[in-house]
Amino acid sequence: MAKVDKSVRGWGSPSRYFQGPNLMRELPKFTGIYGNNAYAIIDQFFYESMTKQLKEDFEKAGASMNTAVFNSEVTAERVQLAADEAAKYKPDVVVAIGGGKTIDTTKAVADILKIPLIVAPTSASTDAPTIALSVMYSEEGEHLCARLYNKNPDVVLMDSQIIADAPARFLVAGMADALSTVFEARANGRSDSNNYISGGYRRTRTGVAVAEACYDELLRNGVGALKAAEKHVVSEALEIIIEVNSLMSGLGVENNGCSGSHSICEGISILPEDKKTFHGEKVGFGVICQLVAENASEELLDEVLGFCIAVGIPVTLEDLFIENTPENIRAIAKHSMKSYWDTEPFFIDEDAVCGAITAADALGQMYKEMLDGKPAYCRR
Ligand SMILES: [Zn+2]
Repeated sequence: MAKVDKSVRGWGSPSRYFQGPNLMRELPKFTGIYGNNAYAIIDQFFYESMTKQLKEDFEKAGASMNTAVFNSEVTAERVQLAADEAAKYKPDVVVAIGGGKTIDTTKAVADILKIPLIVAPTSASTDAPTIALSVMYSEEGEHLCARLYNKNPDVVLMDSQIIADAPARFLVAGMADALSTVFEARANGRSDSNNYISGGYRRTRTGVAVAEACYDELLRNGVGALKAAEKHVVSEALEIIIEVNSLMSGLGVENNGCSGSHSICEGISILPEDKKTFHGEKVGFGVICQLVAENASEELLDEVLGFCIAVGIPVTLEDLFIENTPENIRAIAKHSMKSYWDTEPFFIDEDAVCGAITAADALGQMYKEMLDGKPAYCRR
């Protein structure tokens, strides 16, 4: 059990958060707070179209914008190279435009160059936009560690139309990541473990309240948001879930901590099948494993599994394209022990994690059969 090692409470968050349709077109207004010379690191998928649009918008605003493409892994060497490249332009502010890995790389660049950071995600698939850390990988894509920063992004800009235009699967992955927030917060609260603020402090009531609200809003708006995302339109439910996936989930995890759900996700990174699914999708299955390990009530399992199946969050190994074999389950469990199981309020070892994965998979299978043809949200 990772108990708190100081009585001081800590809270962290981005300085500013803005969300709305077509907000990206207003980027020069936000970078202008820090100076006239901006630099953006852009996901390869958006690079060409976004660079063209930014050049026009910045020219109109009488400011300068240089861009670089992101198309690789988040490794220590690569973030240093990205920082060296950015430094050539002497930017006043750096902007991340893309998904989790683009954002994590740009956070490292801002930290190395000690310049302000604006994060403008192109999907709501993780809670990376708000949090003051980058998840670092090996060249082979294996999760290595978290690189912690002493401050959060200065501005987070969520363009809800760009997010609505993205495939709905991204939003579902973000909901799965957000689903873990409350259960990991509760586990950390029960074991009184350090949160992630500057190396670890005791959690605030604000942090706990955000994690609880994150879960309530997911249940209330998840299905409605998914329907809007499938049609690529912005609705009130979608706006709420964009906030849930990005701001609430980000604040919730950073101010409380991770536990079993993210341990399972990181355990899966040892398998080659890891590449077939998004971070949140693996975390979603991890939530079921964590709840089984904690012996959660049938009522809670019913609620969580019903929600997962209604929106399409993976609840079995098969959903993650992983074959249910003793070898695969052992490999996930073994690798997961390197992560956050020590923040659960009870002793748990590799054998118990194997049991939790096996039972969670069977439970997920049972619920899928039970709810076949009957969307779970209709039953609530
Ligand atoms: Zn996560």
